[in-house]
Amino acid sequence: GRTFPNREIAHFLSRLAVLATSCRQRREDDFESTSWWEFIDAAEMSPAYRKHLARSTQSLVALRPEDGSARTVGSIYLQLLFGQLDPDRPAERVLDGPTSDVWLDPWAAYLRDQGVTIHTDAPVTAIESDGERVTAVVVDGERATADYYVAAVPVEVMADLVTPELERAAPSLSGTRRVDTAWMNGVQFYLDRDVELATGHAVFLDSPWALTAISQRQFWADHDPSERSNGGVEGVLSVIASDWDTPGIVYDKPGRECTREEAVAEIWAQLQAHVGTDVLPDEARVTHLLDPELQQGEDGLRNGSPLVINTVGSLHHRPEAGTAADNLVLAADYVRVETDLATMEAANEAGRHAANAVLSRSSVRARPVQTWGLEEPSVFDPLKRQDELRYNLGLPHPGEASHDAWRLARSIAP
Ligand SMILES: Cc1cc2nc3c(=O)[nH]c(=O)nc-3n(C[C@H](O)[C@H](O)[C@H](O)COP(=O)(O)OP(=O)(O)OC[C@H]3O[C@@H](n4cnc5c(N)ncnc54)[C@H](O)[C@@H]3O)c2cc1C
Repeated sequence: GRTFPNREIAHFLSRLAVLATSCRQRREDDFESTSWWEFIDAAEMSPAYRKHLARSTQSLVALRPEDGSARTVGSIYLQLLFGQLDPDRPAERVLDGPTSDVWLDPWAAYLRDQGVTIHTDAPVTAIESDGERVTAVVVDGERATADYYVAAVPVEVMADLVTPELERAAPSLSGTRRVDTAWMNGVQFYLDRDVELATGHAVFLDSPWALTAISQRQFWADHDPSERSNGGVEGVLSVIASDWDTPGIVYDKPGRECTREEAVAEIWAQLQAHVGTDVLPDEARVTHLLDPELQQGEDGLRNGSPLVINTVGSLHHRPEAGTAADNLVLAADYVRVETDLATMEAANEAGRHAANAVLSRSSVRARPVQTWGLEEPSVFDPLKRQDELRYNLGLPHPGEASHDAWRLARSIAP
């Protein structure tokens, strides 16, 4: 339960108000170099404040509040808050069917229809460069050349593909080595019953592995899992674990050190510990699918697909979509875009900027693709403009005066 005093809620809201009314430059300079933990003074607050208002970042984006930039976490917090307060904006959007059915397969079909040839199981093993441009990519030992190259691979893969020549051609790629990643992997439990849990995502704040879950069936209007399973499966529970470093409750070891089977058993046990075995009895389980990117290594699991995290200062390492190599663009979630969080939206926004970079560099005459950033209510605009003036004069945000007074009072009477 929540047991933090009202003055702590007021303090948290005052910090959010400072963020909401700060100009862009202050956010990018000052708040990007401050952790969320520091920004909201979590160290000074009650355990409940830390758990509910600081540590929730771990469950949502696999980011420890001590590591996450105040700019990123705060901006996303504001988005979540605005989404909940504004009746015209959905607080959360989920797919209305299995991802392959309602998204990936139709998308691949559309691309093929447009003349795209998709080669699967064809990893790029090298990007060749003469120090000015990309000259070829190597796929399965074969060199392939093109007018333009769109790198849409994960950041850790891109970092490994950057050679000294490529870095000379596109210096911003050096930042890919400094972007951090964390483990955030999921398991789907196929159940013989539909267990709704919550009408959206459920966050298990007390679970050592920072679990979140969504019960899918309620959103799948036209997709009946029982039809695909001869009636055996009535419910699908997707669960994500975002902390693979904290020991669990069954094997007393972190997820990284578990086997695949142990990880699944641990996640199931942590769910049961929260909702009860009457809601999720063992016999409800028909089968499960653990993220195949988690592979068994000698001393635990290896993760083939970690998630980009926005640690303090990481904004400055993230390259823009258009690189200095005029035939190389980047379209992935680590690219520096307005959607400041590793998400499908960020990857999509990067893809749009990549397309526009190609258009502006080529002789193709076409209208640029539309792009958009995160929206914040315009009511804050005058205060942001005022703060911009103050920032340019080297002055602190007006809200920092009361923060300084609060700090002083704490130091006198902690
Ligand atoms: C468990 C989990 C839950 C998430 N939930 C959400 C959510 O609810 N909403 C949301 O918006 N985001 C969510 N995300 C984040 C989102 O999935 C990613 O940010 C997004 O998929 C990034 O897109 P991308 O195109 O940059 O990279 P990816 O989707 O990772 O695509 C990169 C592709 O490159 C391929 N590849 C890798 N190496 C090579 C190579 N050498 N050569 C060629 N191809 C290669 C990979 O196979 C992959 O297909 C979640 C992430 C995780 C891990």
